[in-house]
Amino acid sequence: MTGKFAMRLEFLGPPGAGKGTQAKALEEKFGAAQISTGDILRTNVAAGTPLGLKAKSYMDAGGLVPDDVIIGMMETELAGRNSFILDGFPRTVAQAEALDALLAKLGLPLDAVVLFDAERQALISRLTGRWTNPRTGRTYHAEYDPPRVAGIDDEDGGPLVQRKDDSLEVVLERLDTYDEKTAPLVEYYANSGLLVRVDALAAIEEVTAEILAAVEARSKAVRP
Ligand code: ADP
Ligand code: ADP
Repeated sequence: MTGKFAMRLEFLGPPGAGKGTQAKALEEKFGAAQISTGDILRTNVAAGTPLGLKAKSYMDAGGLVPDDVIIGMMETELAGRNSFILDGFPRTVAQAEALDALLAKLGLPLDAVVLFDAERQALISRLTGRWTNPRTGRTYHAEYDPPRVAGIDDEDGGPLVQRKDDSLEVVLERLDTYDEKTAPLVEYYANSGLLVRVDALAAIEEVTAEILAAVEARSKAVRP
């Protein structure tokens, strides 16, 4: 992919599938900013904002923050942007419908919806071994993608943490929430022509290459 042009992607897939890891890897290439609803929510929880106060109990329990809260937040986030990678939004059919309406109003159609295919056991070991930089949202894995020094971020040298909701108990809740509320989006996008599947169980660099190839093929089809 040469040069930077407007690229609007949605990443869809269960928690732990590698959406955040890939969004950060691709940000540079597309000149498209990662918009992670989870990161935005956690920043608000940490700062004790009204949004954070509303969201916290749902997040701690592994459920979803109510649609109206998320949709209002995303209207603000998307205003004035041209390129983006949506990471963790939409997560319900109601959110997907609101996103469609918003992007139509802004005249910013999506280029692709990338579906990260993975199975439950791999997701559990990824999430329970995940270490997160709470300042940037960058993640590592104790075994699969370790930092150079345990507990320290390679980039900013600050401490890494294990998210409370990455405990086994909450992970199992989050996976059930995904199956119930978010998996129906696969059907929602089935006839849109936007959906591309990647094998999220492959190694990190392979997944990046797969996404690049799929998106490049699509963007050629859309903009020859
Ligand atoms: P998501 O944003 O989809 O919840 P992350 O990108 O945070 O997922 O990845 C979850 C965990 O799995 C992290 O610890 C990350 O380092 C690790 N990980 C991400 N992609 C891969 C991969 N392709 N192979 C092995 N581990 C991975
Ligand atoms: P994951 O590692 O599961 O991909 P995220 O960091 O994306 O997790 O999200 C963490 C939590 O934030 C979710 O379990 C949920 O409570 C809340 N959340 C994030 N995005 C959304 C959304 N689009 N709609 C509702 N709740 C959300």
